[in-house]
Amino acid sequence: MKITEHISQSESTLFSFEIIPPKKGDSIKGLFDQIDPLMEFKPPFIDVTYHREEYVYKEHENGLLEKWSIKKRPGTVGICAAIQNHYATDAVPHIICGGFSKEETENALIDLNFLGIDNVLALRGDHIKSEPAFVPEPDGNAYAADLVQQIDEMNKGVYLDDELENAIPSDFCIGVAGYPEKHFEAPNMNFDLKRLKKKVELGAEYIVTQMFFDNKCYFRFVEDCKKMGINVPVIPGIKPIATKSHLTILPKIFKIDVPEELEQEVAKCKDNAEVRAVGVEWGIQQCRELIDAGVPVLHFYSMGKSESIHKIATKFF
Ligand code: FAD
Repeated sequence: MKITEHISQSESTLFSFEIIPPKKGDSIKGLFDQIDPLMEFKPPFIDVTYHREEYVYKEHENGLLEKWSIKKRPGTVGICAAIQNHYATDAVPHIICGGFSKEETENALIDLNFLGIDNVLALRGDHIKSEPAFVPEPDGNAYAADLVQQIDEMNKGVYLDDELENAIPSDFCIGVAGYPEKHFEAPNMNFDLKRLKKKVELGAEYIVTQMFFDNKCYFRFVEDCKKMGINVPVIPGIKPIATKSHLTILPKIFKIDVPEELEQEVAKCKDNAEVRAVGVEWGIQQCRELIDAGVPVLHFYSMGKSESIHKIATKFF
């Protein structure tokens, strides 16, 4: 079922979460162990991230370096199929522009369609470590908006091969990312919001936000979206802080702020067990306010851990 249908058919805030595929060589059992405890909160959908290739250099005996491309966390499509099969809940694969030609994207979408996957989160992806900025494939999509357009075309039965006759249209519900604290590459918020609006005009039906720790950022963002004429559901992304290192890692990776009050609470903690308790308490306060404001879904970033999410969700779902 489409995310938009889950939202329109529910009278209260829904619970959902995002998981990351296991590292290559790990089993899916570890992933199910993370998901299992969260199923009591009846998530109508679970997102599965996509991780593109990285380049590593291997040194040969003669001293020459060879460049290798490796994917450390493959399996997004297989995991989505496994989730739908194992839990009978909708799985939402993240699909990215980076590393994909349009032809490869189309083939991936065909696989997803055959697997009965109804939703996709369309993203640009970040640059790989060896490149200073994002570089699309020569025949790939440069921005998430272009990817949305490609999916929307397929939804209309328009494939890349214009000689195909009577091609079956897909029917994906398309989600996109939004940034309450602005995407780091955008020169200003207004620029970013215009780009977000473009994604919606091209076919995106809902937005999932980057994590934020200050609800004011989310509420302002939703208001600004409305002023800009963006009228699709904006699903807030929640991440419970769990380690002291999150104070520096999360802002660095996700380009977000940690409010001073939270930072000071975490700084006082003697160990990570205390940090997790602070993270859960902060998450509960955030979620209470968001639910009171009538958000459609609370979407949690698990980043491989479900304990804190469980403690927060148990208060509301
Ligand atoms: P876009 O919407 O394309 O925007 C990227 C930047 O380009 C923005 O600054 C925007 O303002 C600007 N821009 C857009 N269009 C134009 C234009 N025509 N001209 C000039 N500038 C333009 N990454 C992964 O690799 N895998 C994942 O699974 C994944 N999941 C995510 C889930 C969520 C909910 C979020 C919020 C992010 C996720 N990301 C993931 C990270 C995401 O790929 C990065 O944040 C990436 O840098 C931007 O992706 P986007 O889809 O927002 O890009």
